[in-house]
Amino acid sequence: MKFTTLLTLIAVPAALSLQDDKLGYQDTPLLPGTQWHVHDGLRPQPPVVTPGAALGAAPSDATVLFDGTSTDAWAGGPWAIEGGALVVNGKGNIRTKQHFGDCQLHLEWRAPAAAGDGQGRGNSGVFFFDRYEIQLLDCYENRTYPDGMTAALYGQQPPMVNVCRAPGEWQVFDIAFRAPRFDDAGKAVSPALVTVFHNGVLVHHAEAMLGATRHRDVAAYSKHEAKGPIGLQDHGNPMAFRNIWVREVQRAE
Ligand code: MG
Repeated sequence: MKFTTLLTLIAVPAALSLQDDKLGYQDTPLLPGTQWHVHDGLRPQPPVVTPGAALGAAPSDATVLFDGTSTDAWAGGPWAIEGGALVVNGKGNIRTKQHFGDCQLHLEWRAPAAAGDGQGRGNSGVFFFDRYEIQLLDCYENRTYPDGMTAALYGQQPPMVNVCRAPGEWQVFDIAFRAPRFDDAGKAVSPALVTVFHNGVLVHHAEAMLGATRHRDVAAYSKHEAKGPIGLQDHGNPMAFRNIWVREVQRAE
């Protein structure tokens, strides 16, 4: 093929961007289970989101849950704000006033200088629907039962690896949570699915939860609404949090 012919072929798609029905094709096969053809130009364009200016900063469509200045997004506690961080202070768990279903959650956390051991060292937790716990614990040179360590689906599934930084250092959780689906009889026909990155490292990959977290018992589901609060646990240790944001997510059409 001549170079000029190749150039023409590459240029064609860009030239067809004036109208959506000219973006692609309608004479191609339908994708199974959809109304869309392969390369269908009429398929809805995903919304534009401006990413955060810095790595970990909230993108334009995020709901900011804590920006260092206010606990307004939260009920319970209230926890203290110290040096721009939200700090556990013995006043009990907190939970978001707004409810969320399928979502992406970003939060940064810091365990206090090493004190205590096992479950008594830097214990907290992130609860989706106020009942599905991703464990927060200082597991830097601190051993505990694996299904209760940092980033464990508590009482169920240990993380693939232990990516803990030393206590006193800020750490990052990025969590994708898909809510369970229930039928009319209350049976979970699709389990909660959890993907977790701890300090940028994948520690759970679409892991199915057995149900609502329990202590010393097997997790089990009971039917709930399609959306629920996101909670943070006061387990008696002065854990600190910052830069907490969430995005409700929905699969593109
Ligand atoms: Mg906990």
